[in-house]
Amino acid sequence: MGKKHKQLEMCLKEELKVPNVSLFNNGAIALLTALKALDLPLGSEVITTPFTFAATPHCISWNNLKPVFCDIEPETMTIDAKRIRKLITPNTSAILPVHVYGFPCDVVTIEEIAKEYSLRVVYDGAHVFSTEINGRSIGTFGDITMFSFHATKLFNTAEGGCLTYNDNRLVDKIYNLRNFGIRNEDQVAEDR
Ligand SMILES: *Cc1c(COP(=O)(O)O)cnc(C)c1O
Repeated sequence: MGKKHKQLEMCLKEELKVPNVSLFNNGAIALLTALKALDLPLGSEVITTPFTFAATPHCISWNNLKPVFCDIEPETMTIDAKRIRKLITPNTSAILPVHVYGFPCDVVTIEEIAKEYSLRVVYDGAHVFSTEINGRSIGTFGDITMFSFHATKLFNTAEGGCLTYNDNRLVDKIYNLRNFGIRNEDQVAEDR
């Protein structure tokens, strides 16, 4: 949370054209925190893709949520948005699609489905960076997007990651979760 981190956050906001950036020590912890920050009902179902790194379903189950796997598109290897509707049940709370090898998911269809069924959307964007769709940054789709800065990714800090999101109300929530609720020397916020 020092000067260099603040500077990196500012640069990332500009580069990724997003209103909010929260830095993390890696992408997996960032994704774990993203799901936690949305307060999804315990045990609810999260529709995701099987074609991803193990961290994606782990972040779902570690939050006591249930991963429900949706098949992928043969061309882009991203979640097949046309198949998501069939997997939605009264227990579905969110969709966690993954942008694969730089190919963005069908964000437009996913946005439509999320609106229609009031579902939250968290993107695993570990494989993308400055991608834009119709002039809109990849980091502005859904509720939250995770980027990984691991040494094997497009932009790297050896280890690292971040969350980007549009909703300013998430700033404090994510800050508390990331920093053990510590606001200052006297104040430790309660968080579950
Ligand atoms: C690398 C990766 C992660 C985890 O990111 P780390 O920064 O290594 O923790 C999560 N999801 C996908 C798809 C990845 O490729």
